Order: sequence, then structure tokens, then C-alpha cells
Amino acid sequence: MQQEAPKGTRIAHIGIAVKSITASLPLLTGILGLEKTEISDSDGARIAAVVAGDSLVELLEPAQDDTPIGKFIAKRGPGIHHICFAVDDLDGTLEKCRQAGIRVIDEVPRIGAEGKRIAFLHPSSTEGILVELSEH
Ligand code: ZN
Repeated sequence: MQQEAPKGTRIAHIGIAVKSITASLPLLTGILGLEKTEISDSDGARIAAVVAGDSLVELLEPAQDDTPIGKFIAKRGPGIHHICFAVDDLDGTLEKCRQAGIRVIDEVPRIGAEGKRIAFLHPSSTEGILVELSEH
């Protein structure tokens, strides 16, 4: 594994569940002037991402109703789906979460839409907000 200087925790991206990327994107790109960046689709969702400073905003549009984002929209409507924090030490952070009694959804990190290792924390432990942790 490559050794890098610690970067500190930052907000990597905010994931927003939308019914239509086509309808939602013009505010971010046309009006707010944010640049699109390519991101691969993930978990049955089409993803459009824009760069907002050091963070991304990801619009998550369900490809099907029976996907995680499709179910989220059916239950709660469009809105903020999750917040992703990039951390220096994902495995160490997950271990700290477990020791603190925080429910971890992904016991073993998996590869997320940005091609980085990620793991989700359960909203029941994080004030109702789905939290994603990722490596820088
Ligand atoms: Zn995410």
C-alpha cells in the first residue's frame, strides 16, 4: 500500500436521490456553474457528479424501482441520501466505529462509484443520515 501524508477527514461527496438527473442537473451546472465529472454507475443507480470545491455532489437516479435509491425515493421522496467522508485510514476508522458501538453496514470495505474503497454506517447510529466512509 502506498504511504501518503495524512490529508485529514473531508466531505468527499453528498449523494442526492433524484427522480431525474436530466431535470436536476441544470441547477448545478447551468445556474451554479459546477463542472461535471465522470463517475461510474453504482448500486443500480445512474450517477451524475459535479465538482464543488474539494467535494462532489452526486445525483443518484434509480435505474429501477427495486434498487436502494429507488426504494429510498419511494419511501422518503427525493432528497439527501448520504454524506461521504473521506478519511485517511478507512480500516482504522471502521474499527473505531465498531468500538464505539456504531452500526457498520459494510463489515468489509467494497469498491464504490469513484473506484475507492468505501463502507457505509447505519443511519440508526448516525442521526438518521446514511454515512459513507471512503479512502482519499
Ligand atoms: Zn456515495
